[in-house]
Amino acid sequence: MRVILMGPPGSGKGTQAKLLSQRFGVPHVSSGDLLRSAVRRKSPMGVQAKKYMDRGELVPDDIILGAVEERLRESDCARGFILDGYPRTLAQDGALSATLARMQTRIDSVVSLSVSREEVVKRLSGRRTCRECGASYHIIFDPPRNPGICNQCNGELFQRDDDQEDTVMARLEVYERNTAPLVAAYRQSGLLCEVDGVGGQEQVLERILSRVQQRE
Ligand code: AMP
Repeated sequence: MRVILMGPPGSGKGTQAKLLSQRFGVPHVSSGDLLRSAVRRKSPMGVQAKKYMDRGELVPDDIILGAVEERLRESDCARGFILDGYPRTLAQDGALSATLARMQTRIDSVVSLSVSREEVVKRLSGRRTCRECGASYHIIFDPPRNPGICNQCNGELFQRDDDQEDTVMARLEVYERNTAPLVAAYRQSGLLCEVDGVGGQEQVLERILSRVQQRE
């Protein structure tokens, strides 16, 4: 199963990608996680990417394209993957199509989660992320058992710099400018499943599962 998950920041892409990855037994490939891990390791890619990420801007294609292609070519992606946060521009879509053609495969479904601007700001300003395993919580809607501590690994929870309100606004604008045209292109191609992203995690998952299909 090869699925692309799209949606504005805070639409629940990461959460749904993890659930789909468990359901189909294929890896969750998140371009944001690849970049954050490079930033933590202070690799050359991470050092370059950090300044864009801190401002809520897209990391330039020359930094991200190769990293995602390399990940998709790893053996665990041979049976499929859930792609979260990539592609975000028409140029990235072109690069992905070329990579998939080289791998002699193609995307089964593109899912776009819709959530209002107000809901995104409410979700992201309360989001807390585990420094160790990347699990995410919400201080009101999905609090950890012990404040500030991850339920899964006891790691420390923190607020991502790019979840501060002014950066969230910048990320939403970037989404409207760069990614909304790509969603429109997928709609035209007939691959797009538009799913209401408001509701409980399981409820949204069921909506997605009722729409995605594996192509022969
Ligand atoms: P995310 O975790 O998907 O919200 O991504 C966090 C940040 O990483 C974004 O605001 C961008 O700065 C960067 N990023 C993630 N994926 C991409 C991508 N496909 N293209 C460019 N920048 C990206």
